[in-house]
Amino acid sequence: MNHLTASEKSTLEAALREEHSRALKQLHQDQAQRGENQYSEILGRASGDSSDEALAVTLGDLSAARLEHEVRHVRELEAALARVKDEDFGFCQDCGVAIPLQRLVANPSATRCVVCQGQFEKTHAHHGHGSL
Ligand SMILES: [Zn+2]
Repeated sequence: MNHLTASEKSTLEAALREEHSRALKQLHQDQAQRGENQYSEILGRASGDSSDEALAVTLGDLSAARLEHEVRHVRELEAALARVKDEDFGFCQDCGVAIPLQRLVANPSATRCVVCQGQFEKTHAHHGHGSL
């Protein structure tokens, strides 16, 4: 059942770790930035300018959605890291076909083959976040 060699798996694991630390760093940066946004939101409120206040709230909502996306990405990578040594890593979770190594290298946290991922995205339409 194992279609990946040990060296292919370590390549993938390295790619996962690299992407994980990059994503985590980005997340921390955005969290810090969001903290600043909230701070200026409070300052804006104190000045009593309602248009600035509205803008600050909009920015806050945007970064909340982005943070959520980044947290999800970090968790996906952590899940993939936890799975990478498993026998069944690299097989589509829906149809069980071996996911091509190329796809795993490009997207190490992929848990579906291209066909099933396409179907999954169709049934869970998320406004074109089709990069997975
Ligand atoms: Zn599949």
